[in-house]
Amino acid sequence: MSHKIRTYGDPVLKTPASPVSDVDGKIIRLVDDMFETLIDSGNGIALAAPQIGVQKQVVVWDLDEDPLAIINPEVVESDGEWVYDEGCLSIPGLYVEMLRPKQVLVRGLDLNGNLIEIEADELEARMFQHEIDHLNGVLMFDRLTRERRKEAITEYRRMQEEAAQADAQTTREPLLGRLGLS
Ligand code: ZN
Repeated sequence: MSHKIRTYGDPVLKTPASPVSDVDGKIIRLVDDMFETLIDSGNGIALAAPQIGVQKQVVVWDLDEDPLAIINPEVVESDGEWVYDEGCLSIPGLYVEMLRPKQVLVRGLDLNGNLIEIEADELEARMFQHEIDHLNGVLMFDRLTRERRKEAITEYRRMQEEAAQADAQTTREPLLGRLGLS
């Protein structure tokens, strides 16, 4: 079942998620729901469970049409530096230039409960760092300096207002049309 993606301001995004103690049927269903939600989002490449309101350490991703999941992921090694315009399904429309390690080694469990390690670079490495931040209740805004955070939040609010106005416009227009006013 597809879920609504929680957005900035929802307290669930600020709350650290709990580790999964048992990769059981419930977790498999959660992963299925997360894949469906990710596909419905249209432009996302990864999703963390808190983004659909579930405080569990589960991440799914889909790079190259290959949906995968990891349970209790953590970055165990990182190296290099890479600047990238990062986006977030929970902060729709906003991209923030951010410096993070270029390569990471991620450790976690697969859906059979087996320990796995993934070496990731550039976009894939960025994705893991971003999603693991979600599991720790950390958003992109929290990674910025105070000044840049203020700017980014202002920009995001302005975009939200514009989107709301555009929505209001499209619902008003057909009505005006019917009344012969447009
Ligand atoms: Zn995000």
